[in-house]
Amino acid sequence: MAKIPWYLWIIVGGVMFAVSYRIGESMNIFLYIGLLFLVVGIFKMLVSFILGNKGKKAVKQAAEMRTQQFTCPRCRAVISPDFYFCPNCGTRLRF
Ligand SMILES: [Zn+2]
Repeated sequence: MAKIPWYLWIIVGGVMFAVSYRIGESMNIFLYIGLLFLVVGIFKMLVSFILGNKGKKAVKQAAEMRTQQFTCPRCRAVISPDFYFCPNCGTRLRF
């Protein structure tokens, strides 16, 4: 169940819903099954979006921390955080 992507649920649910809607009242149970698939698909879509955004945010934050701490504000040289002066341009980094 976890391996089925959300769009497959929506496609299957949508097709089932459309087909049973056309066939009519005798196939009404499939209308509800189609709706159920649609709801599951939408739910899975929301979950995957929320989890996906969190993952991207964490990666972005880690990248920002790397660049913030180790670059000179004046010449943008990549330097060790324990330097007091930039070895490239001589700018004071700490007070
Ligand atoms: Zn510098």
